[in-house]
Amino acid sequence: MTPGPDLRGPRRRLIEALAAQGVRDLAVLEAFDAVPRHLFVPTGVRHRAYEDAPLPIGSGQTISQPYVHALYLQLLQLRGTERVLEIGTGSGFQTALLARLAAQVFTVERVRALHESSRRLLDELGVRNVSYLCGDGTIGWREYGPYDAILVGAGAPAMPMPLIDQLAPNGRLLVPVGDREKQALWMVTRTPAGIRQEAVADMRFVPLVGSHGWLETGTG
Ligand code: SAH
Repeated sequence: MTPGPDLRGPRRRLIEALAAQGVRDLAVLEAFDAVPRHLFVPTGVRHRAYEDAPLPIGSGQTISQPYVHALYLQLLQLRGTERVLEIGTGSGFQTALLARLAAQVFTVERVRALHESSRRLLDELGVRNVSYLCGDGTIGWREYGPYDAILVGAGAPAMPMPLIDQLAPNGRLLVPVGDREKQALWMVTRTPAGIRQEAVADMRFVPLVGSHGWLETGTG
């Protein structure tokens, strides 16, 4: 997964910008260095792949801003042994980062075109520790749970309870909850004393559409 030498400069500058914004977890920064983000965006916006910005990926969806992915990964403090569930595969970029930072990744995407393109790309890049499902991730993926970490990459109208149910002991769930315009990012931890919830940041995500999310509207 080595990007062309022409893009090494912009990629390094992005990593420096992330570090300057407080991303200090070396494993996270190394993952950004190893995964070529330009391959995860359409060719029309490829020249912007190393800007710290969300970009369109088709089907009315976006690849998240790099800082958002970095923040998620830093909050999870993965050690490489975890089983992780990701809701909203999208471009597959965060999936590829997770595949480097955790043991096994389970990823769910409701839009079939994105499910297929991200899976094809990660296969081509030789990423082997990922399982893919096309479907409604708001109900989780019970078959392979519980999970040490669950990440939701789209905004929910309310806390999706099936995901809390699928958290392993000491497991962490990151989920944006709010209205369609803006959300608070919640970190939910299953502690021995019970479920702990804390709001950690303000976010702007595309809607989480599903039985424990928003109702489908047109393209979703
Ligand atoms: N981390 C991804 C985020 C993509 S945007 C990236 O940076 O590429 C969020 C994704 O969540 C979209 O692809 C959208 O289709 C998907 N999504 C929305 N609701 C979903 C649901 N209920 N289950 C699975 N995926 C969902």
